[in-house]
Amino acid sequence: MAIIVRTKTDSVAASAVDEARSALLLDVDPADVGEHLGSQAEGERVVTHLFACERKGYVGWRWSVTVARASRQKQVTVDEVVLIPGDDAIVAPEWVPYRERLQPGDMSPGDLLPVDDDDARLVPTYSFGDDPLDADDKAQVREVAKDLGLGRVRTLSLEGREMAAQRWYDGDGGPESALAQAAPDTCHGCGFLVRLAGPLSEMFGVCANGDANDDGRAVALTHGCGAHSEVRLAKKHEPQPMPEHVFDTLSSDGYEIV
Ligand code: SF4
Repeated sequence: MAIIVRTKTDSVAASAVDEARSALLLDVDPADVGEHLGSQAEGERVVTHLFACERKGYVGWRWSVTVARASRQKQVTVDEVVLIPGDDAIVAPEWVPYRERLQPGDMSPGDLLPVDDDDARLVPTYSFGDDPLDADDKAQVREVAKDLGLGRVRTLSLEGREMAAQRWYDGDGGPESALAQAAPDTCHGCGFLVRLAGPLSEMFGVCANGDANDDGRAVALTHGCGAHSEVRLAKKHEPQPMPEHVFDTLSSDGYEIV
């Protein structure tokens, strides 16, 4: 059970607005400091005073000056002066490591994207045994496995397979895409669907219709598009038959000379 401790606001620290402003002005240009916005208790005899920030480019930011009063003292001392963002402040978005920013299509010819040894999407096709191995030892085991002809060094793990399936299902080749929602039928019954082998085959295939948007891509069996092999146009949408050809048999001999 969480215990909530309510801190009583120290009246001396709470009324030390002028002291807080003076401390702030030691570091900051007076033109950058606006009105006192309020104060909040931080702990026993510790109060933070907030002042509006008038500096250009810092809309919504606030100067925060924390003061404290020692026990049995009548004066406060200044603990900290910082600039902090308010609710309406424009702040930088949360940092995302470069590795996580990569999107499909970001790679250019010649780019290399090494996969970590412990990437959860892959598992070794052979066992390292129970011994804890460093990266060099693991590389040696891989080399031996390659020499022995054990095929691929690593294969898709269960987690890697599930991640791929979820991504494909949620993406343009899934049942919720705009194309699929407007399709007359699903890929499941389409003659252009190439079946996969293995566990992913229960939900996905590859589209092999060169006229379709998804040609060459994994598509969910519940996906679909207007290029489905069994699509037929309604009578009213069928192209109108062309009229009979008219042959022009007139020659210069046929003209009457006026
Ligand atoms: S042509 Fe359309 S319906 Fe057929 S497999 Fe490709 S995406 Fe699916």
